[in-house]
Amino acid sequence: MSTEYKFFDEVNKSFDRAAAFVDADPTLLGQVKRCNSVYYISFPLRRDDGSIEVIESWRVEHSHHRQPTKGGIRYAKSVNGDEVMALAALMTYKCAVVNVPFGGAKGGVRIDPRRYSEGELERITRRFTFELWKKHFIGPAIDVPAPDMGTGPREMAWVADTYQSLNAGELNAAACVTGKPVTQGGVAGRTEATGRGVVYGLAEACSIAEDMKPLKLSTGLDGKRFVVQGLGNVGYHAAKYMIEMGAVLVGVSEFKGGIANPDGIDLERLMAYREEQGTVVGFPGAAPLPSSLAALELECDILIPAALENQITPENAPRIKAKLIGEGANGPTTDEADQMLQRRGVLTIPDIYLNSGGVTVSYFEWLKNLQHVSFGRMEKRFDQGAYRRLVKAMESATGKQFSLQEESILTRGAEELDLVNSGLEETMAFAYQQIRNKRAALEDKVDLRTAAMVLAINKVVVSYEELGIFP
Ligand code: NAD
Repeated sequence: MSTEYKFFDEVNKSFDRAAAFVDADPTLLGQVKRCNSVYYISFPLRRDDGSIEVIESWRVEHSHHRQPTKGGIRYAKSVNGDEVMALAALMTYKCAVVNVPFGGAKGGVRIDPRRYSEGELERITRRFTFELWKKHFIGPAIDVPAPDMGTGPREMAWVADTYQSLNAGELNAAACVTGKPVTQGGVAGRTEATGRGVVYGLAEACSIAEDMKPLKLSTGLDGKRFVVQGLGNVGYHAAKYMIEMGAVLVGVSEFKGGIANPDGIDLERLMAYREEQGTVVGFPGAAPLPSSLAALELECDILIPAALENQITPENAPRIKAKLIGEGANGPTTDEADQMLQRRGVLTIPDIYLNSGGVTVSYFEWLKNLQHVSFGRMEKRFDQGAYRRLVKAMESATGKQFSLQEESILTRGAEELDLVNSGLEETMAFAYQQIRNKRAALEDKVDLRTAAMVLAINKVVVSYEELGIFP
């Protein structure tokens, strides 16, 4: 399906729509839209059986208006140059929307990671990193990769280790990549950050009665019925935190099919079932769906596409029943489908805002690596002492005694995970208000995606204008 739509063109359609509301030199807007650097790399891999295969890969730095540039590395057999350029561009806009001081970038390796052994994946990852390093496409102040589809903490540890061995003695080398395991300089909460951010964003959107009214939805996530496409890093964690907020999972679409149960699906049991069977289809108590895509059309309040781009198209958009779409994936809705849904009154919370939790917490990880100290280490004990003195003062003023349990809750000092989640929640809530305010400033003539894009383009343009154009 992704071949029918040129992903970068789709991103640029939404750019152009927003750019009409930005007061800037059209040539400069053209520069903002373009990818600054596109690097294509092919290298040979010796497979475990002795045969040789050519691996194709890309790294795109979309915008150098801020450095380093930042964006994940995707391992999928559908990866191509157009996709990586589109994803890099989305990273620029995303970072600008949530006030993360990076330019956008993305990497992609055209492989199906399921077809390679762990040793082969390690060789691919280390060679790809070496190729990036050779051309100055990686470094704490240059370009900082992170996980995306098909990659995770394991691959990021290989990237960090390769970079560190090529840069012996570089004090900040660990900040060359984020999404590392916590034992290797990662930050608590990074793995689940994108999914958690999706839920913070949806909670913020659903807390506004004025916006829920036209959708005929009550405020809050409690009791909302939702469907998720893709139970990977983003989809699984988004579903987990939605359920924690009281929402009910009524449908799941996965690589090899989909399932539905209007009474609710037990997520952890489903994950265990998929681990065992390699598919969600056949999960006891849930009805199998005719195709993966069919789940998108299920009756629900909120649809969370969290798999691939170009999933909601003019073909299936008219059959989508969700009142609200929360874009966990990058570019899941084509431009034309987006316009159709908007005309039908569906509220879309756009990817360039909603899935920014990953890059936000990656920013925290990068800061931690540059500071060389974990968040909370300096102040936790001090805060606990201060809270304890406060509790004692309250006890002596009232003559009442707190129970041991109450005292331990009241005097708890923040750990790294508390601070990361707090920073993420604040980022998501603040950015949502900025997007809504921008929409209001444009007299509600535009949707949230266009409002977010206007905000983003303005920030990049200001940056270019204030920095001046390099001669
Ligand atoms: P992942 O590899 O962890 O998971 C992807 C999931 O989608 C897998 O479970 C896979 O089986 C499923 N899937 C693949 N094709 C499918 C299909 N046709 N129908 C249904 N399910 C399908 O990837 P991820 O990191 O969760 O990324 C998912 C999306 O979120 C991508 O668009 C990615 O760019 C975006 N994203 C990821 C992050 C991150 O931090 N990982 C951050 C921002 C955005």
